[in-house]
Amino acid sequence: MIDELGIAMKAREFIGRCGPLALPVSVDAYASQIGGEVLKEALEENEDAWSFRDSAGKYRICVNCAHNARRQRFSVCHEVAHVVLEIASDHATPSWSYSRRPPGEIACDVFAAELLLPHKLFKPRVDSADMALAAIGSLADEFDASLISTGSRFATFSGELCAFVVSEGGKIRYSARSARLREAKGWIRPGSPLPTGSYSSRVRAGEKPSGAEDAEPDSWFEDWARDGALFEDALHLGQWDQTLTLLWFDDDQIVAPAPERKQWDEDSYRLRELDGVLPWPSGKKRR
Ligand SMILES: [Zn+2]
Repeated sequence: MIDELGIAMKAREFIGRCGPLALPVSVDAYASQIGGEVLKEALEENEDAWSFRDSAGKYRICVNCAHNARRQRFSVCHEVAHVVLEIASDHATPSWSYSRRPPGEIACDVFAAELLLPHKLFKPRVDSADMALAAIGSLADEFDASLISTGSRFATFSGELCAFVVSEGGKIRYSARSARLREAKGWIRPGSPLPTGSYSSRVRAGEKPSGAEDAEPDSWFEDWARDGALFEDALHLGQWDQTLTLLWFDDDQIVAPAPERKQWDEDSYRLRELDGVLPWPSGKKRR
């Protein structure tokens, strides 16, 4: 199994073969690059997509027409990944069941995220964007991708100390963290409830969002012993009882740690962006 960086490189290589990039990226262009065609079909509720090669040798990608358009776009990219990475699909486990996601499926998700939010176009926008959920919303519109995929990738690529946290039913499901935050050992425990009294929990309870607020670092981060002012922006999606949180530190007040920066460290394999949580099945234990 190739690692995440290897997968991202393969995806970037593939994007390069598809000609000039426009925004939002054309998933049909990706499909036709592998001799495929996208069909919208009625599938089972939790099934994202499936593919087959027809008698003429054409690759048919069938996506779930009941899913929203942005999820369908991700699904097309995921199916393309199966072909390019030559990984047989294993869709017995639904994509939202993040505890038992097979490694091959995770690899295809990583590839798909790169296709939908290409580093070359996305990273400069992250660098110039405001630190706010509204800015992530604009990027999601621009790239025609889900808020969760966009927010996760936003945090992953951010040059700041920041995290994008997804909670459901008032419990933290996962977080995507910037390289600097991972280095600073800013760990947010999945499964824990939203901090009591936090902006996020109040927004979930019905309070109208009113822009970023100050937050308590040690209510969000485990064993956090650093100085620095933390800010919190929050948004609640009532339909799914999902709460999205963006956390970031005031840069001036934190002294960056000395160790060399690594964009793709072991941590980045554990919690994946996407429409679900995707812990990388590594045998290693968290520090
Ligand atoms: Zn798959």
